Amino acid sequence: MIQIPKEVYKKFLKFALENANPLERSRYWRECIGLILGRINDESIIVTDIIPIGSGSSVFVDISDYEKVFSLISFERIDQGEVIVGWAHTHPGLGLFFSGTDIETQRTYQSMHSQSFGLVLDPTKINSQSPGFNIYRVDSYTSRPYTVDFLFNEEFDFLSVHEQLTQELFEIPEILPALTAKHTVSWKDISLSLDGPSHAHLNEPFLLKLVLKMPHPQFFRVTYNVKIYNASTSHTQDFVEKREYFHESLDSGTLAVFSLVTNNTNRIFLQLINMRIADYNQKYLDSPVLGFEVKIQE
Ligand SMILES: [Zn+2]
Repeated sequence: MIQIPKEVYKKFLKFALENANPLERSRYWRECIGLILGRINDESIIVTDIIPIGSGSSVFVDISDYEKVFSLISFERIDQGEVIVGWAHTHPGLGLFFSGTDIETQRTYQSMHSQSFGLVLDPTKINSQSPGFNIYRVDSYTSRPYTVDFLFNEEFDFLSVHEQLTQELFEIPEILPALTAKHTVSWKDISLSLDGPSHAHLNEPFLLKLVLKMPHPQFFRVTYNVKIYNASTSHTQDFVEKREYFHESLDSGTLAVFSLVTNNTNRIFLQLINMRIADYNQKYLDSPVLGFEVKIQE
């Protein structure tokens, strides 16, 4: 039986999510790989650590890299009886299986030690029942992979560990330049823009739209306050609006439409106060300011 400490699982999951955060588009995801250390007592293996060794679009570690890899393991650890008991890698969004390459890699591990095993983690497979990984060995005659039982040293909620790490690791959008006159601010795939007419008649209302484009077709809740002001007179048109916006599969959408009346200015700024994208992080997008220019027609 293979025993895995919760902390070791968390460490490898963290490495996996750093390379494949579910809050990022899957085209940014990368696979990653680590070496599993442990102690072997008769038929049982107690895992003590997983050491990250690399990441990329396709991961496998050639045996020639191992010298470099072994240097990561301190001599004290070897003295304490820790040995390499296997390897771990991720299949973000691809499912749990052993590919042809994985089978070959695993055969190399088993040729060094028959009890060596390969762990495959797909964070998208994590749910309340499953930690999102399988452990495999390969049949030495048929080369067919088969799953091996494991247990954790303590019970815990896989889903909440996953959610907590996902939120911790999600980079906070830094879209927020100070005062700018740009129509759009963006960070990675997230963008906010103002859309409206390029010309408007003096003292007549026109519509200005605040458009949000989000990267993930998932559940979002956006909360914000808005203030609109006039750049030439510094007059704040306290347009404070509070809205909540829900959408189940939002790729892009108009957050709000404002009706404005031009006076003698042609530069209008819209300030979002305490904009927040909830569910993914509790961080605020600090007061981004978007500018919009409208030419006045007499
Ligand atoms: Zn694989």
